[in-house]
Amino acid sequence: MKTPYDYKLVLPDGQSCTIEVHPKHVKNCTLRLTRDGRFTASVPSRLSSAQIAEFLERHRMWVATKAVLFAEQHNKRLAYANMFPLWGRLLSAAELLKHYEQLSSMRCNGHEHLKLEKLCIDVYHLETERALLPLVEELEATMHVHAAHWSVRSMKSRWGSCTPASARIRINARLAAYPPECLRVVVAHELVHLIERGHTKRFHMLLDCYAPNNREVMAILKRDPILLAAENVSSEV
Ligand SMILES: [Zn+2]
Repeated sequence: MKTPYDYKLVLPDGQSCTIEVHPKHVKNCTLRLTRDGRFTASVPSRLSSAQIAEFLERHRMWVATKAVLFAEQHNKRLAYANMFPLWGRLLSAAELLKHYEQLSSMRCNGHEHLKLEKLCIDVYHLETERALLPLVEELEATMHVHAAHWSVRSMKSRWGSCTPASARIRINARLAAYPPECLRVVVAHELVHLIERGHTKRFHMLLDCYAPNNREVMAILKRDPILLAAENVSSEV
């Protein structure tokens, strides 16, 4: 296995962009932009440096376009640096603290020492747990299914997961950053797994029946919750 290295790609505007190249046991070359704005390429380890360079040079325009879009999003995000999205709305740091105190019945004395990001995750957990109960009752009654156990977790790559054999369902706490219909669709999705295990045609027919807006919601969940909530603010004005 070859070691990773940086490739300097010169973009059409003359600026150079670093691509982290990771030779791996993979079939094809894949170029991606990470959430934190780094370009990474996984490439088959059998390829020569010239072949890798040829692949990266061929994708110059793609990299240039993505870099501009990322910079735009990043600048927009900076404008909301001290705002926190909750159920599709933006809260200030003071509102977040007040909300946390109400939810947890705890006073945040000396809260200036508290990390707001950590507090925000705690709020997401408490909020999701609180919203889950009535939602589960309603959906289970409509769908005629019952989950044996629910848990709210901080998950990196999934919005929810279900183990049909034990009827255990896990829900991502970060759903509280998005509009409430997102939690509803994820809960419905996981409950459908208790009827149909895999993502089959029947699964999607059932999901379309219990959560007709599931496709729109999945598109929303791909977006940055801060920018999404910021759009709602400006459309309400
Ligand atoms: Zn699923």
